Amino acid sequence: VFLTLEGLDGSGKSTQARLLAQALEARGLRVRLTQEPGGGLPGVRDLLLKGEPLSPEAEYLLFSADRAEHVRRVILPALEAGFWVVSDRYLDSSLAYQGYGRGLSLPWLLAVAQEATGSLKPRLTFLLDLPPEEALGRVRDPDRLEGLGLPFFQRVREGYLELARAEPQRFRVVPAAAPVEEVHRAILAHLEGLLGV
Ligand code: C5P
Repeated sequence: VFLTLEGLDGSGKSTQARLLAQALEARGLRVRLTQEPGGGLPGVRDLLLKGEPLSPEAEYLLFSADRAEHVRRVILPALEAGFWVVSDRYLDSSLAYQGYGRGLSLPWLLAVAQEATGSLKPRLTFLLDLPPEEALGRVRDPDRLEGLGLPFFQRVREGYLELARAEPQRFRVVPAAAPVEEVHRAILAHLEGLLGV
């Protein structure tokens, strides 16, 4: 079963991905916890986060190259071996950040993504939603985000919510301003059907 977590920087995705993986393991499931960017081509993470600012097009193609490797080398082999895969970010991050945030055309993003991911979609996507003012306040290394500005993150948040409205069967929107344990319980509650408990 392939699960993804999405949301703004500072929304608590990484913490929740880890707690989710632990909770699944505690139920005796085999779990592969992974993340983007860098899940397929680790060098891409530094290039994207620490390198020179890139055009949105180049940025998206690098995310896509990373994702293509991530799917083929990590996610699919794990799914085929019977693991539950929990990914901290996946394609929806690109649709939200490079599409809604940086203004690239969604049809182009989706056309590239179809080939890059082989159309692999998560069974469920948890969108950790909260206002950008709150999310960004929690970011430990805000320098990285300097220059993007609040309107950018507002577009990203609205983009995520629009993606969620378009695919309600896949998305679960989880209010992320609540305490960590509460958000975790909300995620597990959404999984009840899948876990058969
Ligand atoms: O969530 P994480 O810290 O792994 O994300 C790394 C950075 O990459 C974040 O600052 C996020 O804003 C950015 N990012 C992006 N476009 C994506 C995925 C992540 O700009 N598609």
